[in-house]
Amino acid sequence: MQGYIHSLQSLGTVDGPGVRAVVFGEGCPLRCVYCHNPDTWEPDPAHLMEVEDLAEQILRLTPYIKNGGVTFSGGEPCLQAEFFAALATELKGRGLHLALDTCGEVYDPAVRRLLELVDLVLLDVKFTVGEEHHRHTGGSLSRVVSFLKTLEAMQKPIWIRHVVVPGLNDTEEDLLRLAELTRPMRCVEKIELLPFRSLCIEKYRTLGIPFPLERTPQMDPARLAQLQAYLEKNL
Ligand code: SF4
Repeated sequence: MQGYIHSLQSLGTVDGPGVRAVVFGEGCPLRCVYCHNPDTWEPDPAHLMEVEDLAEQILRLTPYIKNGGVTFSGGEPCLQAEFFAALATELKGRGLHLALDTCGEVYDPAVRRLLELVDLVLLDVKFTVGEEHHRHTGGSLSRVVSFLKTLEAMQKPIWIRHVVVPGLNDTEEDLLRLAELTRPMRCVEKIELLPFRSLCIEKYRTLGIPFPLERTPQMDPARLAQLQAYLEKNL
């Protein structure tokens, strides 16, 4: 089986526990205003890979990632759920911890099979008001909420990730809504607030795509720490 693979990062430390291999798939149904990976939006037929070849490359990294694992990211890996389920099956037999980094917008029987195979889901909750979520990502918050409920029903460990963007979702009210949404979910182990950064601007220039947040300042780390503390107090 073949999948569209943008790249394999060998020693990732921010996408799940420990040191990890991170597989970036291609194709995404969203167009988030702050996306750092616009180069993964469209599948490129020149980037097709056989699942066995990718598994072999990852397994070569086992000495470095045996205490961490492998994260499937993108783009949106659930668009290639059958491919990633096949990859998960190859890796699972080798005792590697598997995480899926997803926007929670795609769900079908193939995604269900993939979810059953992974040990952890990193779920992006990008905005907490449906209209803003749609305006800034093109997606549907209700689909994300129903994805979250599915994970909860499966008792799948979840880390929520929420990029905080100055002027878009950086108020206490935003964080209160996030707390309210996640509070009833027993499977949520952690909520990570991530700072908006504009380092991706060069990628946009190279691709000739306008970067919608070109004039937005980077997120202040002190303010982010305040918001994280506020969130934890209200969980
Ligand atoms: S879901 Fe991820 S890859 Fe897709 S547009 Fe949003 S940030 Fe970018």
